[in-house]
Amino acid sequence: MIEIRHLRKSFGTNEILKDIDFNVRKGEVVCIIGASGSGKSTLLRCINLLEKPSGGEIIYNGENILDDKHDIFAYRTKLGMVFQQFNLFNNHDVLSNCMVGQIKVLKRSKEQAKEVAMKYLTVVGMDQYINAKPKQLSGGQKQRVAIARALSMEPDVLLFDEPTSALDPEMVGEVLAVMKELAQSGLTMLVVTHEMGFASEVADRVVFMDKGVIAEEGSPEQIFNHPTQERTKEFLKRVL
Ligand code: ATP
Ligand code: MG
Repeated sequence: MIEIRHLRKSFGTNEILKDIDFNVRKGEVVCIIGASGSGKSTLLRCINLLEKPSGGEIIYNGENILDDKHDIFAYRTKLGMVFQQFNLFNNHDVLSNCMVGQIKVLKRSKEQAKEVAMKYLTVVGMDQYINAKPKQLSGGQKQRVAIARALSMEPDVLLFDEPTSALDPEMVGEVLAVMKELAQSGLTMLVVTHEMGFASEVADRVVFMDKGVIAEEGSPEQIFNHPTQERTKEFLKRVL
């Protein structure tokens, strides 16, 4: 579905991503793990074009979306993003948070947007809170609303950047449970996470990044139980 070829990203003279190659296939759950500063967020931000890659190709449905002539806007509506810090609109209530993008970007009617928003708020178990403002919600609830908002845009792929890292420990479970359910429903997901239990249980494939390169990738069984690279072993020794 998404094919990344020779992707590079530099900030000034600092090369953060070095010749990254990898694919995300339809229905697949790919977890990206790696030390702080290894380039995980930069990779996600390049994939959804929040950052402009310095080189390489992003092939989506057979076309290189980094070609000048390509319609980046259409591409971006096909990718959903869930951030560590939720990024909800604080002056909008829960329902409205899940409707504005649909109305403004997808040009859906209010009625249609509401129906879709309610569907996904129910999926994440937040349909009882539609009139609440974000500040009235716990971190776990906010993140579930952020997931419902992303789903309301009905993207082809959902990208998560450490969706549970800002949460109090007792709220991590409810968010991971929603993500697991989505994974099992066949949603295509690319998840940067420090939750090794989740990666091991839910991922179809685990990608280990180190200093701007993919050092190793494979099934969870392969990466967690039989890593071949020294740096993968060392990373896992530190985090497991
Ligand atoms: P973490 O686990 O801490 O979130 P990460 O793997 O997501 O780390 P990135 O956020 O991708 O790492 O950062 C990789 C490197 O790129 C870091 O050294 C960071 O300082 C640098 N970097 C990221 N964004 C920028 C930017 N906008 N300008 C300059 N340098 C940046
Ligand atoms: Mg990051």
